Amino acid sequence: MRWPETDGEAVCPRCGCCETYNISPRRKFKCKACHHQFSVTSGTIFASRKMDFVDLLAAICILVNASKGVSMVQLSRDLDCQYKTAFVLAHKLREAMAQEVHTGEVLDGHVEIDGAYFGGHIRPENRKEDRKDRRLKENQTGKRRVVIVLRERKGRTLPFVAKQEAEGVELAKENVDRMASLSADEASHWDLLHAAWPVERINHSAAYSVDGACTNQAESYFSRLRRMVEGQHHHVSPQYLYQYANHAAWLEDNRRLPNGEQARKVVANAMGAPVSRSWKGYWQRAA
Ligand SMILES: [Zn+2]
Repeated sequence: MRWPETDGEAVCPRCGCCETYNISPRRKFKCKACHHQFSVTSGTIFASRKMDFVDLLAAICILVNASKGVSMVQLSRDLDCQYKTAFVLAHKLREAMAQEVHTGEVLDGHVEIDGAYFGGHIRPENRKEDRKDRRLKENQTGKRRVVIVLRERKGRTLPFVAKQEAEGVELAKENVDRMASLSADEASHWDLLHAAWPVERINHSAAYSVDGACTNQAESYFSRLRRMVEGQHHHVSPQYLYQYANHAAWLEDNRRLPNGEQARKVVANAMGAPVSRSWKGYWQRAA
């Protein structure tokens, strides 16, 4: 899985040479050309790993089996590791999954667009006289974000995180083929989409689906993400909301596959994903 192009023969990550010595007691390879020593996880998301392979594989199985994600406390207990280890490992795996979600290819066919707001909850004060009007901007936390999803019918799910749902118009221009058609709800900022595509609109105050015009596939994606955020994680930082959005999109797109195949796909993605810039040495950097 690490070197599919050479059928499993080690390739030097530094110079690309295929001739290597096998240092079997240390489970490493040494490049015949540049003498660089490397292991099967060098240059991947698992670089500098300390956990056993069997534990890493267990983490992947637990994560793909949980259809709405799993809390990090639960994962750390299942793997018998620290909470911090589970947190970073799961985020690295989400980054690996994102390779399959954000492929860079535009969406085609019929695409549904919608947004849903997450986070920024303000806890009301205990006494009524101390409570503030939580609808006013000055009383809000500034941590509320919108997940905008573009979802092909019978196809891929592409999520983004923004501050305003109206930013979805620009995202559609960048990520949807000009020959596609769209579905959107009654929100007025989607009116701008009509300039570029044939758009079916559905007014949710009147009906959820009329003659096939609906955004129900986008809503099912939000249903999964909402249950993941509210039911499993309880709180997610706005900074990392995109990671959870990608995780839910991956689960949505692969939901019909057997779980063995899902686990195999995540292992392959992890082996193909580069060293994580955000997550490698995450806790060390904070110290
Ligand atoms: Zn080399």
